Amino acid sequence: MSNQSLLSEQVVTAIRGVLGPGPAMLHEPSLKGNEWVYLKECLDSTFVSSVGKFVDRFEVDLACFTGAKHAVAVVNGTAALHIALKLAGVQAGDEVLIPALTFVATANAVTYCAATPHFFDSEARTLGVDVAKLRDYLTNFTEQRSNQCVNRASGRVIRALVPMHTFGHPVDIDGVLALASEFKLAVVEDAAESLGSTYCGQHTGTFGLLGTLSFNGNKTITTGGGGAILTNDAALARHAKHLTTTAKLPHAWEYRHDEIGYNYRLPNLNAALGCAQLEQLPSMLTAKRDLFARYQSAFAQLTGVTLLAEPAQCQSNYWLQTLLLDDDHADQRDEILAATNAATYMTRPVWILMHELTPFKDSPRMDLSTAQWLSQRLINIPSSSGLVSTFL
Ligand SMILES: *Cc1c(COP(=O)(O)O)cnc(C)c1O
Repeated sequence: MSNQSLLSEQVVTAIRGVLGPGPAMLHEPSLKGNEWVYLKECLDSTFVSSVGKFVDRFEVDLACFTGAKHAVAVVNGTAALHIALKLAGVQAGDEVLIPALTFVATANAVTYCAATPHFFDSEARTLGVDVAKLRDYLTNFTEQRSNQCVNRASGRVIRALVPMHTFGHPVDIDGVLALASEFKLAVVEDAAESLGSTYCGQHTGTFGLLGTLSFNGNKTITTGGGGAILTNDAALARHAKHLTTTAKLPHAWEYRHDEIGYNYRLPNLNAALGCAQLEQLPSMLTAKRDLFARYQSAFAQLTGVTLLAEPAQCQSNYWLQTLLLDDDHADQRDEILAATNAATYMTRPVWILMHELTPFKDSPRMDLSTAQWLSQRLINIPSSSGLVSTFL
């Protein structure tokens, strides 16, 4: 048998060595704390919907955990991005710089502002924005007009830059902040995947003007569906709350709305889950690091594949554990996906790149060769915190 056909078997054996016999999902919720208690409290109180103490508590707990001055809970991470972009000043006809290598929500949220996503390349080290390459590109293809960054080809203002912390690994944030101030771009961090990840000790999502989180069922913690907007700016936080709660002016009985708002509020039921989940987040993060360490020793001897580790000076939440195939083995990706899934270990490739999706096929972009290279070589493997037996 040639080495070629062996790698997929070696990957299955390595995963089995860590997890034991399957099945193992890619990422399952772990609901082992006060979820039932808090949900029962909601039901008993009848406060199941848009009013209730768990929404306020969840926002306080999130701010406390992340170190953001303010957190505004919303109905999902996409809605959080939509409102964060609006508050960052994104207007109809603008362009917004986002990675080609991201989940579709990042691109969709830009279009909800009637703006156009403009795709940038990623670096292999962080899987996030390649700052040096983006600087070269902006230098060559944009100009500053009355303190705004204008795309010379389209004539449109590039209003904002959205770094995304892929699979929980923080991007080069110092580089992002320097680039953004140089080119007069607002920074909105898509931290949907990076709750619990830090850069130089500071929580991701708190560096930009605004940051966004997701609590979808497959994320590190879940509220069923949910999201949050983080910001250190009190006025932006107030405006985020206002816009996500139909822009209603406070009054005992009058329904007066002073701008077009959105029904993006997180229901109290979901927030109750969130409070219970946040209590367990520190132990989930420990379990996910433990899982990483176990995978690391299991994959250490394999040639052809590397387990991705957190970038220097960063702590990753290791939301999704990730293998990177080397150039000699990239052609075996689908074979590895087939073998692992057949062995009941759920694995998957990274998302199809945004510029390859029909709705974004005409969107502007820079050279995306590293994102393309990565997209042929990345494989996510089972990553739930509950896979580690030491986690209660
Ligand atoms: C999960 C996710 C979101 C938000 O998703 P929702 O399902 O709307 O909560 C946004 N961006 C990225 C990169 C994500 O992974």
